[in-house]
Amino acid sequence: MREFDVVVIGGGPAGYVAAIRSAQLGMSTALVDEYIGKDGKPALGGTCLNAGCIPSKALLDSSEHYHRVRNKFASHGIKAQGVELDVPTMIKRKDKIVATLTKGVAGLFKKNNITWLQGHGSLQLGMKVSVAPTNGGEAEVVQAKHIIIATGSVPRTLPNLSIDQEKIVDSTGALEFTEVPKRLGVIGAGVIGLELGSVWSRLGAEVVVLEAMDEFLAMTDEAIAKEALKEFKRQGLDIHLGARVKNADVTGEGVTVDYEDADGAHQFTVDKLVVAVGRKPHTEGLNSTEVDLYIDESGYIHVDEYCCTNIPDIYAIGDVVQGPMLAHKGSEEGVMVAERIAGKKTRVNHDTIPWVIYTWPEIAWVGKTEKALKKEAREFQSGTFPMRASGRALAMEETVGLVKVIADAKTDEILGVHIFGAAASELIAEAVVAMEYNASAEDLACIVHAHPTMSEAVHEAALGVHKRSLHI
Ligand code: FAD
Ligand code: AMP
Repeated sequence: MREFDVVVIGGGPAGYVAAIRSAQLGMSTALVDEYIGKDGKPALGGTCLNAGCIPSKALLDSSEHYHRVRNKFASHGIKAQGVELDVPTMIKRKDKIVATLTKGVAGLFKKNNITWLQGHGSLQLGMKVSVAPTNGGEAEVVQAKHIIIATGSVPRTLPNLSIDQEKIVDSTGALEFTEVPKRLGVIGAGVIGLELGSVWSRLGAEVVVLEAMDEFLAMTDEAIAKEALKEFKRQGLDIHLGARVKNADVTGEGVTVDYEDADGAHQFTVDKLVVAVGRKPHTEGLNSTEVDLYIDESGYIHVDEYCCTNIPDIYAIGDVVQGPMLAHKGSEEGVMVAERIAGKKTRVNHDTIPWVIYTWPEIAWVGKTEKALKKEAREFQSGTFPMRASGRALAMEETVGLVKVIADAKTDEILGVHIFGAAASELIAEAVVAMEYNASAEDLACIVHAHPTMSEAVHEAALGVHKRSLHI
């Protein structure tokens, strides 16, 4: 029986990073992964590289180029004629990027001497992992000193509809359309629904988004959610709040969707329907019951702050444990666990994990919202700065949005930074650094920001905490 210091189950951004760090620290490492790519071949990288972060960003960029050339170039004095859309080429470009990255991870495994065990991993008593190859070959059982579970998450579905990846699709299917649907329905105005809805809307689909909750983007800052809703509606997304989908049927013409809102029952027909009602932790087939691994009532593997499960030497990281389902959160947990196994005292600061919603403009934040602080009865003051007052935003014609900096009323420590605007996903990094170093709003206000840049809006919002903004 082969023996390893560390056996990781799951090759997404949580698992593969944990494996690389374990190997860097001199531990013999194997990683079990069962993912089969679109080309029918095994691929590392999990949801993120194969069907999540990366392919969605590839399409996002393509759709933004198309939208710009058709709608934004004219005011710059650039006349574009005969612009045509070639969706299959767009999809091929996306697939190429995915292949480059997944092969890149395989290359990193070789470089770090990590053994990739292709197949389905399940836990066995006595710190063993059984690996059943996807091609049906004989299962191999390996012995581990430490096991890291990183089995990720899978899309949630609704009881009265079945995903056929043709007309009713989940997020994976929504990355594979070969033509732009005329009418596209999206169930769920969450991170994934808004991102994918925006992609197809920019490419020309009429997009209807149905969201069960009355509040739009309840987890984001209220002022930003309000402005984002207004902007997305202006862009043409037909967003219905308080609209709970009950049923969807594939018919000759498309998909008939039944939903209920405060006014009663409604029905409409779309060509395709994207179900984006969230994701659930993936523990199926892990054999958790036999080894007595504790899974909580929401389906997550229960862990402490160091990602230790109830079984000594078995850890769990990424989407399969509580916390935001974000790739970078899982990767950092992977690094922490590898380092703790190697005897280091590493921890992850879950309070400074940045969130990004890749609409256009983007929404990004770190830390707490005003609503959450009010609930905690914590006193704060905040400064906001609208993008329309930024010279760079004006030059770029990207004047939608704002930056908000929230700081403790007494200590001035930054408690949250919320951004809606072009390049928010990049701008948020400054706020993460500031919060990681327990900076005050004044610290941020004292830092020189290059002119003209979008980052000046962060500076001005920090100045605004003390009513000192200069350009508003
Ligand atoms: P996963 O990436 O889900 O990987 C788990 C891996 O384990 C998979 O390869 C799976 O096949 C394998 N596996 C599971 N069980 C077993 C088993 N028993 N044996 C062997 N292998 C197994 N996050 C961001 O941070 N930024 C984004 O921009 C972003 N965009 C997204 C867009 C979309 C459309 C989607 C769907 C998700 C997006 N996410 C994004 C979320 C991100 O993809 C996840 O948070 C991330 O992939 C979680 O990483 P993970 O390693 O925990 O699990
Ligand atoms: P996220 O978890 O960010 O991907 O968001 C998923 C969204 O789907 C949440 O905002 C849910 O409120 C929404 N949702 C879940 N079930 C339904 C439903 N039956 N109809 C409409 N929206 C739903």
